[in-house]
Amino acid sequence: MSQLPSAKALQHLVDETFQQFHGLPGGENASYIPYLASVPDELAALVIVTANGDVYQAGDIEYRFAIESISKVATLALLMEDVGPEMVREKIGAEPTGLPFNSVLALCEHHDKPLSPLVNAGAMASVSLLKADSAEQRWQRILDVQRRLTAGNVTLSDEINESEQTTNFHNRGIAWLLYAAGNCFCDPMEACEVYTRQCSTLVTCKDLAVMSATLANHGKNPISGEQVVTPENVAPILAEMTMEGLYDYSGDWAFEVGLPGKSGVGGGLLAVVPGKMGIAAFSPPLDESGNSVRAQRMIAQVAKSLNLNLYG
Ligand code: GLU
Repeated sequence: MSQLPSAKALQHLVDETFQQFHGLPGGENASYIPYLASVPDELAALVIVTANGDVYQAGDIEYRFAIESISKVATLALLMEDVGPEMVREKIGAEPTGLPFNSVLALCEHHDKPLSPLVNAGAMASVSLLKADSAEQRWQRILDVQRRLTAGNVTLSDEINESEQTTNFHNRGIAWLLYAAGNCFCDPMEACEVYTRQCSTLVTCKDLAVMSATLANHGKNPISGEQVVTPENVAPILAEMTMEGLYDYSGDWAFEVGLPGKSGVGGGLLAVVPGKMGIAAFSPPLDESGNSVRAQRMIAQVAKSLNLNLYG
C-alpha cells in the first residue's frame, strides 16, 4: 500500500469525489421501514478519518441518520470482548449466507445457525449472547459501545424506534426460529426488541468514519484515545465484514474495492483500511442488495485513487 498524500490532497480528493457522485441517479430509499422512506433522498456525505485522527469531510456532514445494520459491527465488537472470537464463530458463524440480510431460507438451509453476526438472524443471536441481566442493561451496553466506537453523541431516535418496533414482524419471526433451534440465548422477543433499538440510533457520517478508523487503528479510537476493542479481536471482526458486510454483494465488493465494509439500510456505509484510515459515506437510495448506491461509488473512488485495495 502506498503512503498517504498530504492533508490538502486528501481534502481535495474528498471534495472531488463528493462532487462527482453525490447526485448519482439510481436506487431507492428503504421503504419497508416507514421512517426511512421519508428521509430526503438527495442527502449525501463523505468522510475520511485517518488512524491518527485527522478528519476530511464533504457534504451533509451534520445530518444524523439511522445507523441500522452498521450497529451490528458495534455489537459484534462488544460480543467479542464478552465471549471471545472462537465462541462467536461457534455459536453464530463466520460465513457469508449468499442471501438477503433478513433471509429465512438462509436459516433453514443451515440448521437454523445464522452463519454471520452481520445478517439479521446473527445480529439478534449476538444481542442475545451479550452478558446482561436485563433488556435494559443489554441495551445500555450496546448504546455505550456505539458511543465509544464513534466518540460521538449517539442517541436513540424515538421516532425511528417506534417506526421499526411496530413493523418488525419479519425479524420477530426470525428470532422465534432461532430460539426454537437453541440459537437464541435470551428471550427471543427481548433479543428482537433490543436489536431493533440498536438499529434506531442516530449517527453522522463522521461518527461512522471514526468507528471505522477505530478498527483501522487496532481497536483504539483515534479521537478519544480509548482502546475500545482488544487488538486481537479486530482481525476477526474485519473478516466477518469481508464475508458479509455488504450482504449478498460482499464478494463483488471485495472483488472491486478490496476493503472490509459494512452497510446499513439507512444509507450509511463504512470501509476499514487497516493501519491507515476509516472511510464512511452516506446517501439514502439503496440498490437491490440494500447498499447505498452513492456511498459505494464514493468509497470505491477514494480506495482506487489512494490504491488502498488490500489484495492489490
Ligand atoms: N433494522 C433493519 C432491519 O432489521 C436493519 C437492516 C439493515 O440495515 O440491513 O431490517
